[in-house]
Amino acid sequence: MRLRSLAFVWLLAATTVSSAFAQALPRVHMVATGGTISNRDGGRLTAEELARSMPGLERAATLTHEQFLNVASSQITLDQWLQLARRVNDLFATDQELAGIVVTSGTDTLEETAFFLHLTVKDVRPVVVVGSMRNPSTLGYEGAANLLEGVRVAASPAARGKGVLVVLNDEINSARDVTKTDALRLQTFRSPTHGLLGIVDRDKVAIFREILQRHTHTSEFDVRTITSLPRVDVVMVYQGATGDVIKALVDLGAKGIVIAGAGAGATSGTQGEGIDYATEKGVFVVTATRTGAGRIAPNRGQGPATLTPAQQRRRAFSISSEDHIPVKARILLMLALSRTSNRDEIQRIFSEY
Ligand code: GLU
Repeated sequence: MRLRSLAFVWLLAATTVSSAFAQALPRVHMVATGGTISNRDGGRLTAEELARSMPGLERAATLTHEQFLNVASSQITLDQWLQLARRVNDLFATDQELAGIVVTSGTDTLEETAFFLHLTVKDVRPVVVVGSMRNPSTLGYEGAANLLEGVRVAASPAARGKGVLVVLNDEINSARDVTKTDALRLQTFRSPTHGLLGIVDRDKVAIFREILQRHTHTSEFDVRTITSLPRVDVVMVYQGATGDVIKALVDLGAKGIVIAGAGAGATSGTQGEGIDYATEKGVFVVTATRTGAGRIAPNRGQGPATLTPAQQRRRAFSISSEDHIPVKARILLMLALSRTSNRDEIQRIFSEY
C-alpha cells in the first residue's frame, strides 16, 4: 500500500514536471502549402509527415500543424494569398499564447507569398516562411533542417516585430528584401541591396539588423476588407520592345502595370507609347528596375510647365517602385489600389513600405 502510494506520488510529480517542461516550450503552428519541401516521389509529404520529420523538435517547440495547400508555389492564386493571410491573422487573434507561425512554401515564388504576408499580417509575432531546394527523395534533402530552423526562429523572442522572415540554408532574410537568385543552388535566397537579417546557428537565433519600413503590425492593409485583388501585370524592358503589349494589358483590364525597367528605369522601343496609352486611360504605371537591385527615385510633383499634356498625364499616373523588385512592386501596387486611387498616396505607400 505504501509502495503503491509512493509510486503514485512519483508518477504525479513526473507528469507535472514533464507537462511543466512541455508548457515551458514555446508553441509554434505550421501552415503547410506544398512546394519542393513536400514534393516526394510517389506522393507529396503531408503537414503531419513534415511535422514528424525533424529530429530534436521536442527541444525547440511544441508544434501544431495544418495542411492549407499542397501545391507548387507558382500555382498559388491571389485568392489563396488572401485566404492564407486571413488564416494567419485568425490564428494569432484566437491564440494569444502562440509564439509564432511557420509557413512552408515552394521556393520558386516564395518571396511573393512572404512579401504579401509581410504586408498583411497584423501581429508582432514571427511568421517564418520556409522551403527547400532539394526534394525529400533526393540525397541531401535539406527540408527538415530548414523547417526545424524555421520553427526555432518562429519560437524566438528575437524574431518578434521583425516582419515576415524567410529561413533557408541557416540564414534569415526579410520577406521585404529577399529574392531567389539561382534556379538550383542551396544558397539561392539573397537580399541583394541590404543583406541578410540574421542567422540560425546551433546555439542560437541571431538577428543583426531590422527593417525600418512599415510591415505587419504597422501596416495599413487589412485583408478582412479586401475581397479580391486588382489585376496588375509586370512588363519587362528589352531592346526593341513594343508598346502594344502594354496597350493590350490595359485593354484586358489591368488596373496597374509595373515596368521592369532597364537600369534606373529606362524603357525601350515603343514602350513609351504604351505607357502614354495606359496613363491616358488612368492606369497606374510603376517603374522598377530589372537589374535585381537598386532604387528608383520618385519624380518630383508635376514637373516643369513646359511638359506637354501627355507628359503631365504620364507624371500624374507614374509611381516609382523605390527599391522594390518588379514582382514585389506588383504586390504593393495591388494592395495600394485596394485602398486608394490617388497617385501621391500610392507613391507614399511605396516610400513607406
Ligand atoms: N520548386 C517548386 C515550387 O516553387 C516546387 C515544385 C512542386 O512542389 O511541385 O513550388
